[in-house]
This record gives sequence, structure tokens and C-alpha cells, in this order.
Amino acid sequence: MTKLADRNAALAARDLKHIWHPCTQMHDHERIPMLPIVRGEGAWLVDAEGRRYLDGISSWWTNLFGHANPRIAAALAEQARTLEHVIFAGFTHPPAIELAEELVRIAPPGLDKVFFADNGSAAIEVALKMSFHYWLNQGHGEKTRFIALTGSYHGETLGALSVSDVALYRKTYAPLLLTPILAPSPDAYEGEPGETPAQVAARRLGELRTLLERHAHETCAVIVEPLVQCAGGMRMYHPDYLAGLRRLCDEYAVHFIADEIAVGFGRTGTLFACEQACPEPGRRGSVSPDFMCLSKGLTGGTLPLSAVLTTQHVYDAFYAEYSAGKAFLHSHSYTGNPLACSAALATLAIFRDEPVLERNRALAAHLARRLAPLRDHPHVAEVRQTGMIAALELVTDKATRRPFPAAERRGLRVYLHGLQHEALLRPLGNVVYFMPPYVVSEAELDHLVDVAIAGIARAVAD
Ligand SMILES: *Cc1c(COP(=O)(O)O)cnc(C)c1O
Repeated sequence: MTKLADRNAALAARDLKHIWHPCTQMHDHERIPMLPIVRGEGAWLVDAEGRRYLDGISSWWTNLFGHANPRIAAALAEQARTLEHVIFAGFTHPPAIELAEELVRIAPPGLDKVFFADNGSAAIEVALKMSFHYWLNQGHGEKTRFIALTGSYHGETLGALSVSDVALYRKTYAPLLLTPILAPSPDAYEGEPGETPAQVAARRLGELRTLLERHAHETCAVIVEPLVQCAGGMRMYHPDYLAGLRRLCDEYAVHFIADEIAVGFGRTGTLFACEQACPEPGRRGSVSPDFMCLSKGLTGGTLPLSAVLTTQHVYDAFYAEYSAGKAFLHSHSYTGNPLACSAALATLAIFRDEPVLERNRALAAHLARRLAPLRDHPHVAEVRQTGMIAALELVTDKATRRPFPAAERRGLRVYLHGLQHEALLRPLGNVVYFMPPYVVSEAELDHLVDVAIAGIARAVAD
């Protein structure tokens, strides 16, 4: 038997023998051992030696209601004994039917059709292909390009990477990718001194209009992450941009793809981020995109699943006699997997039965109060927050806002400090962020903030 004190090391050594981890330079793990997690309990993860870590990032933004959630687990166990999988062409099943009904019920108005896939990047591929194919079916095969925002992230398969703006990925894989048209992000942090977030949004809409004037004839869609560009450093922008984007897309006949993979399901304070944009100034109600991509929190972090919601109008452009060759061409072996659908149904049932958004508002307000003093920190250029996402931008000097050279190393220090103090924080370069599961308590948020502050002190030293 391995002694308790050596269990983490023993598992880490076995891991390294055969496993190649995502988004990781494996060489780093000669120095920093992989951390084996054997159990989850609510907002906490437990390693092989019994040490606990408060999951401040919902395990890459998926675990909305914590780990080993009993309600989701029970639904899953029941479904596993009933029907674990069935081919989804020619066949259907109750969990997929109920899930589609529920998604349409809660989504912004007009999104009445649901196409399932099995991860976020696949949902992006589906939306891109569907938008292109829609225009092709309408006799506009010349529309082949996409407009994406600077600083955007939409996943890592080739199509999704093509509409992402992550310098390292683009540099490496550029020869394999489509060339997107990049529109400047409405990111408020990058605004001119004195400009309000609404003014940045208005200015960026003007620039988008100029791009559309030039490129709308060859453009299928504009794709954005509504309100928060997450992987790009939790950069946030004003909801007016979404309302303006909807109007511009209508005016120039291009689709609006909303990637709510990270921001959907209550993360930004509303069930979907698009809801915070009013279609007309002074009017209430949600902006509706032509395509909305969902994944991550959809199953509460239990199983991979994604969905692309679209309109009856888009659907109708594919609807014809088989011989017309208009059908949408996309399938995955696990499309609409019943286990994943039942986990999603159990997750959405929690939103129905419990005051999740209200509780999140109280938690978000508490987090904001706790982070407010950091506005005066000499190395924090900005404290920003949208609902249950909060971020601190670390800089060498507040006045110049110059980021640290080799910012990842500063971020790494915060990460390692967190692990030594019962917290999982995983900064994005020089951005320390909080994206906790909705089941955290105020005391647990206090713990995350305290650890982050001490971690930042270590990270900025020297
Ligand atoms: C994570 C993410 C994706 C990709 O989802 P995967 O399941 O990791 O492929 C796409 N868009 C956004 C905004 C994301 O945060």
C-alpha cells in the first residue's frame, strides 16, 4: 500500500507515463506534479491525500452546481439503467425531446430549433457551417467569410480556431485556418481614457459598420461572446454592443452567432447574457441572435454536451425534398446522448426549482464588496465584474497599465499559492479571475478572495 502522504506523487508518476494533457507543456510537470483529484463535494475538490481545494473556476467554467451534485447524479444513474445511448438519426428519445422543449422555453424569443453536438467547439463548427449553408441554400454561395472580434475565443477545432483571436494559436496553426475578418472588440478596458463602456461600444459599432459596408457581401455571420470575452482575459463590454450588433446584422444581411458556451446559464446575472441587451432603446426584452451556442454549464459539468439553437427561418432554408440536396450535413456518434441530455435536464430543473439567479445576485454583490478595496492596489489596473465572473488585471504600474513581462509566470505564482492554501485559481496570463460554482457560500468567497490577495502579493514581489 502506498502511504497516504505519497499517494499524490504515486498517481502523478503513473499519469505522466501515458497521459498527454490538454493545453499543457508536459515538461512543466517534471517540476510541478499533476494533482490527482479523487472526489468532489459541492464547491470543493479533494486530492488523493485528503487535501481540499475550493474550485474558484468551476473546473474550466462547467460545474455550475458544484461537484458530485446529488440531484444530477441521481438523474444520471436512473437514465443509465434505462437507456444509455441510441443512434440519433431516424431515432429519438424522451430526454432529448424534453431538453429541446426546455431550451426553447428558456431561450431568447425566436430560437425554436435545437441541433445537438457533444462539446463547445463542435457547437461552433455547427453554427459556422449552418450559417454558410443557409446562405448557399438561398443562392448566396459567395458568402464564405466570418467576422470575429479581436480577443475572441471560440474553441480549438480548426473552424472554431479560425474565428478565434488567440495570438499563440493563430501563429502556430495559421496555415490550416480560414482567415476571419477581425472587428475591434468593444472591450471596455481597451477604451480611451475617460470613455464610458457605453461609449466604447458605440465607437466599436461604428467600426463594425465600416467593415460590414466593405465585407457584408462575402460574410456569413458575425460571431461574438456576449458581454464577456472569457478566455481572452475576462474582458467585459457594454450590452449596447449586442443590441447594435443585432441591428447591423439585420441591415447588412449577415447572421449573428452568440457563443454563450461560457456565459450562458446564469453566469452573467441573467440566464443568458443576450438578455441584458434591449432590442430597441428604452424597450424591455432580450436581443435574439440567429444562432446561440451552448455547452459547458449545460450539463452542470457532468457530461460533454452542446446545443445550437436557431430560428424557424434558418431551419426552413434547409427543408426540401431529399433530392434537392439542401439538408444540413453534420453528425457526431454521440449526438443527443441520452445520459448527457438527462444531466442537462436535471441541471435546468435546479434553475426552475431554486432561486438560482437571485442567490447569484447576492453572491455577486458580496464578491464585489470584497474585491472593492483592490481598486487601490498598486498592481491592479482594474477590478471588473459581470455577475458571477470577476477579474483583476495585474500590471507593473497602475498609471501606465503596462502588463508584467512574462505575465504567465506571475499568474503561475498565484496558482501555486492557491493550491498551497486550499483554493483552485487559474489566472489567464496577468488576469486573476473568479468564476465560482453557484453553490459557494459567502464565507467560501471570502476564502477565495483572501487567497487571491495573498497570492497576488507573492506574484508581484520583486
Ligand atoms: C470553452 C469555450 C468554447 C469551446 O468549448 P469546448 O467544449 O472546450 O470545445 C467555445 N467558446 C467559448 C466562449 C468557450 O469558453
